[in-house]
Amino acid sequence: MCYNSYMKTLYQYIADAQKNKTAIGHFNVSNIEGLWGIFHAAQSLNVPVIIGVAEGERDFLGVRQAVALVKSLREEFDYPIFINADHTHSFDRVKEVVDAGFDAVIFDGADLSFEENLKITKQCVDYAKKINPDILVEGELGFIGTSSKVLDDIPEGVELDEKSLTNPEKAEEFVKKTGVDLLAPAVGNFHGMLRGGVDPKLNIERIKKISEATKVPLVLHGGSGNSEDDFKQAIANGVSIVHINTEIRVAYKKGLMLGLSENPDEVAPYKFLKPAVKAVQEVVDKKLRFFNNL
Ligand SMILES: [Zn+2]
Repeated sequence: MCYNSYMKTLYQYIADAQKNKTAIGHFNVSNIEGLWGIFHAAQSLNVPVIIGVAEGERDFLGVRQAVALVKSLREEFDYPIFINADHTHSFDRVKEVVDAGFDAVIFDGADLSFEENLKITKQCVDYAKKINPDILVEGELGFIGTSSKVLDDIPEGVELDEKSLTNPEKAEEFVKKTGVDLLAPAVGNFHGMLRGGVDPKLNIERIKKISEATKVPLVLHGGSGNSEDDFKQAIANGVSIVHINTEIRVAYKKGLMLGLSENPDEVAPYKFLKPAVKAVQEVVDKKLRFFNNL
């Protein structure tokens, strides 16, 4: 059993967020410095938080090690911190994280045909629930780009016009047939953020329609670069989890460069990495206050 028996499940925290019109922050890490930065921020505000590791991030950190680190915080501090296998592109890699004890997993079939995406997502749901009935499985419908970085332009293949966004009827069919707990739609969002500016506006009307049609909590990916007003409206209309990655990557790198340049003779990593932890913490603190109406 991974939870203390009296701690709510991740699903219950999401249900609370839905009811309160708040959102749970989901932040990606590649290492333990990032994890501490996020945990310190969440803990000081006393709000639940989700740690994300996509395939590249968890290959670097270690799949089982990532789970062990997050669960060690949950147990030691009796704290609602959860781990999600972000963007997972095959059934085999979904199986790997389910077996390793993740709290949630995303099968990302957004670049497959609707039928193929539906088929593999269903296979993932069936396997995951058999191994761990509490695990949450998220599906993706609609293409939102792939890389969390600073962009000069909207990523290739991402279309922001009405007919390229996730269709509410298709979303309803997808959720019904796959049995996913959560859905990540394309609603004007994309991974990464535009250099020097704010990302284009989200389509709030579409979020509302998808939420009403699917009746599952929606997950907003690519939250870096979106405005506070957009988040507020998205959360009020069905988004219960918001993913932030690029902004904390940028903060981490800036903090690291500062740590190195301020003390060029320092060789102790725990000293020159401190500004990186602090930089991540500051960004996460700001986002969490906003997502939780604090
Ligand atoms: Zn994402």
